[in-house]
Amino acid sequence: MTTIVRNLQLVRDRITTACFAANRNPATVRLLAVSKTFGADAVADAASDGQRAFGENYIAEGVEKILVLRGQPGGALEWHCIGPVQSNKTRLVAEHFDWVQSVDRLKIAQRLSEQRPADLPPLQICLQINVDGGANKSGLAPEDVRALALEVAQLPRLTLRGLMSIPEPAIDFVAECAVHARARAIFDEINASGVLPVPMDTLSMGMTADLEAAIHSGSTMVRVGTAIFGGR
Ligand SMILES: *Cc1c(COP(=O)(O)O)cnc(C)c1O
Repeated sequence: MTTIVRNLQLVRDRITTACFAANRNPATVRLLAVSKTFGADAVADAASDGQRAFGENYIAEGVEKILVLRGQPGGALEWHCIGPVQSNKTRLVAEHFDWVQSVDRLKIAQRLSEQRPADLPPLQICLQINVDGGANKSGLAPEDVRALALEVAQLPRLTLRGLMSIPEPAIDFVAECAVHARARAIFDEINASGVLPVPMDTLSMGMTADLEAAIHSGSTMVRVGTAIFGGR
């Protein structure tokens, strides 16, 4: 067994344990393996143990791996763009990725919708939210999330799936939960308001350091890099 496969199994165990601790069904939490800075061979290694969804921050690097791994035995991989998307990169993203979790502006969403090739399914979208107010961070302020969600839900070639957050590291489990609970509250509030044609089903939060707190707080997708692939 390779180190990556062993690490992947340990991460799955962490997710299962956290779900039981939170009284949740482990099938309600997906694992996104964040492969940024690691090569296609590392992704193939994780895929050989059944991991299907991979996250990339840097678009050119991600597209290179997507092309190399196309036609991978065991079925298609699912690629998530989780890094900043500038206007001049939207076409590459729309043509190659399956999900974009880092949308925080209407203009980017509009371009992604326009540029999504007609022969591909709609691009799956999460809006990135900034719940801890980091001034230099990307992500929507909590009060702006609902308006953008409504607009994105109407774009023809996108499917709004949910929200994504990347909080700053917190000092302990309680502090981590407090921040994740804010994202969860925004998610629940928008769904409960009934303004979206289809409710959101994805709350993407939790990384290597805080996946237990994120699962405790209602995450449906944890994005884990270091614990699977090693330090960067
Ligand atoms: C790098 C990254 C991750 C993974 O972080 P780890 O701490 O290595 O698990 C998750 N989400 C985003 C948006 C990232 O950029």
